[in-house]
Amino acid sequence: LGNKLQDILEKVGHEKALTEDQVKATMREIRMALLEADVNFGVAKDFVAKVSAQAVGQKLSGSLDAGQTVIKLVHDELVEMLGGDKAEPTLVEGGRNVWFMVGLQGAGKTTSTGKLASLYKKQGKRILLVAADTQRPAARDQLEVLARQVGVPVLKVEDGEAPSSIRSRIDAQLAQQPADLVIVDTAGRLQIDEALMGELAALSGELKPTETLLVVDAMTGQEALNVARAFDERVRVSGLIMTKLDGDARGGAALSARSVTGKPIYFAGVSEKLSGLEPFYPDRIAGRILGMGDVMGLIERAEQADIKAMDAKKAGEFDLDDLLLQLRQIRRMGPIADLIKLIPGMSRALPEGFTIEDKQIQRIDAMISAMTLEERRNPKIVGASRRERIARGSGHDVQDVNKLLKMHEQMKEMMKMLQKMSEGEAACLCPR
Ligand code: GDP
Ligand code: MG
Repeated sequence: LGNKLQDILEKVGHEKALTEDQVKATMREIRMALLEADVNFGVAKDFVAKVSAQAVGQKLSGSLDAGQTVIKLVHDELVEMLGGDKAEPTLVEGGRNVWFMVGLQGAGKTTSTGKLASLYKKQGKRILLVAADTQRPAARDQLEVLARQVGVPVLKVEDGEAPSSIRSRIDAQLAQQPADLVIVDTAGRLQIDEALMGELAALSGELKPTETLLVVDAMTGQEALNVARAFDERVRVSGLIMTKLDGDARGGAALSARSVTGKPIYFAGVSEKLSGLEPFYPDRIAGRILGMGDVMGLIERAEQADIKAMDAKKAGEFDLDDLLLQLRQIRRMGPIADLIKLIPGMSRALPEGFTIEDKQIQRIDAMISAMTLEERRNPKIVGASRRERIARGSGHDVQDVNKLLKMHEQMKEMMKMLQKMSEGEAACLCPR
């Protein structure tokens, strides 16, 4: 943030501890963000209650204001809940490794099976894939195609084949052609259904998988909770794979599935291609769930920026030179829109589509530089003829100058709001 913004923000109770009101104001925003990200309602509620309890009374840290401090707490707690550091499924060297892929139809089981085969083959593992959808031949063919692409053997079950028969055929195949890892792709249904669950439980009982990986489509939204619970109850899930994170789903399903099973999220599916499987990074998803990108990175940048003090009382007198100074500082830090979103409620308080890009800052710089000292101090005197002169002098259109003056007005309003906030009126800038 520019120095004025930062300075004003810092005054939101600098040495003080977070008050209940401050926490509440930000938590409203957080709860909205969680629900918008499709986190299950109950999970969001519990989460907010838990973090709120932790946050109240917490000391404000360094240069972060109340809102940022709460967001940092929320973010850290989200990362923690999503699993902290990245985890990997267990693959015992020289041991028996059987991974069982389960999930709803269309979740991405078959695709993920192919991706895992590709990933572990690259690591030098010998793989055997098992196409164990006992009802849909097309599903088995789909895995066969992937197996051929990866270059690993595949064993296809027969329609309605019994679990014991499947097991003995896998054993026979392994006796002929040993493998370090057997990955079993199973049938899915569009919804949780007892017949399927019974079938999966029977096959699982027979094959005794060392990992049972529940594949969850990130777009599942609210349902992710019930899906994860149902599968975990019947086949004891050991880990999760979140697919389709390349789409625009915000990832709330990850939090829901994780919180109900307590199992690690091992991988993220990020494309339809065989290469589209990545380790799951909790901090990325946390930022995404909050709708704030890489929150901590941005907060750090704001902290590191060269920040000088400014008299907050001057906010009402914010002139074009101040604007220019701010923008030049912001340029060194990155996209202003990202930084501004760090302030709870700010994205909503700003006009629709408010963004400032680097090029825009250069243009604004040129226009302000073409103004007289008096014009910069008192933009109100900049009428039609002056606007024309400034436009010509800086190589821009009159419309650009109009836009600049309008933006300055908006920034000035923002400053006033921030100042009110600094005076302890509210830590939330939600429009009243
Ligand atoms: P299954 O029914 O669970 O076996 O699901 P599939 O593996 O057949 O996948 C269903 C659809 O989702 C297919 O069109 C896949 O290409 C697609 N898909 C799976 N994983 C991903 C992913 O991570 N990203 C994207 N964009 N598509 C995926
Ligand atoms: Mg499938």
